Amino acid sequence: MARDHEDDEEDVSPGHCGTGRTRLYVDQPLSPGIMVDLGRDQSHYLVNVLRLDEGAPVLLFNNADGEFLTHIEERSKKATTLFVEVQTRPHAPLPDIWLLFAPVKRARLDYIAQKATELGAARIQPVITQRTIVSRVKDERLAANVVEAAEQCGLVALPEVGPTTKLGDLLDTWQSEQDDRLILFCDEAAPVGGVKAQLEALAAEGKKGAPLAVLIGPEGGFSPEERARLLAREDCRAISLGPRIMRADTAAIAALAVVGMILGDW
Ligand code: SAH
Repeated sequence: MARDHEDDEEDVSPGHCGTGRTRLYVDQPLSPGIMVDLGRDQSHYLVNVLRLDEGAPVLLFNNADGEFLTHIEERSKKATTLFVEVQTRPHAPLPDIWLLFAPVKRARLDYIAQKATELGAARIQPVITQRTIVSRVKDERLAANVVEAAEQCGLVALPEVGPTTKLGDLLDTWQSEQDDRLILFCDEAAPVGGVKAQLEALAAEGKKGAPLAVLIGPEGGFSPEERARLLAREDCRAISLGPRIMRADTAAIAALAVVGMILGDW
């Protein structure tokens, strides 16, 4: 995945929420004793930015086998080969909680992608609603932010970036495609209070660990038609996130936190 080089400097700071070790996500099988070839971007990062030498330790993880300690076997600007030594952490699947959010402007979109990754969302999917201002989302930028956050924050799994989809289209096919995934519709117009009881009732119904989707609207909020359509669905629950109206990026984090705590893997 192409790295977002603008903040490479801070990438090496030991203050990371991870171990401060260099960690890279690779979309390749990992097991002790094999060699892993990195592409140009990741080689450039290790060799030119971090100036690592042969023998330097690098942690690699993917979305299936866990995290492994490796060292640089051969290095060049174009391709670097790592020798996989030993597994350091087993794969830890993410709680099956999706974040469906109306995309906002670039900087905050990066922020939502990174924070949703840190909060353990299993899938992060932009949803175009009637009042969404942003019409196109650069999927590769979203994916790069997700990978970088996963690397920096010690995840041993990778959230999926879902395709940008119109809310109407998503709801049309939701039943057939998402067998029993419940939509937690963060509704700024929902009656305040009761979200804790609502989520605890869902937990009591056995929804803890079940497939869930958190839906966050755009700056302009949901339209009356969208609200009516969502509220009419069996597989949808409107939840209030308290008496204050938050910006969409703040709401995404708040929602993933409360849902993660009561129905996720906190
Ligand atoms: N402009 C709208 C608010 C949009 S806030 C208005 O003034 O009503 C953007 C999104 O964040 C909302 O669509 C909702 O999904 C979420 N959100 C923000 N504050 C919330 C709250 N207190 N309760 C539930 N959802 C909230």
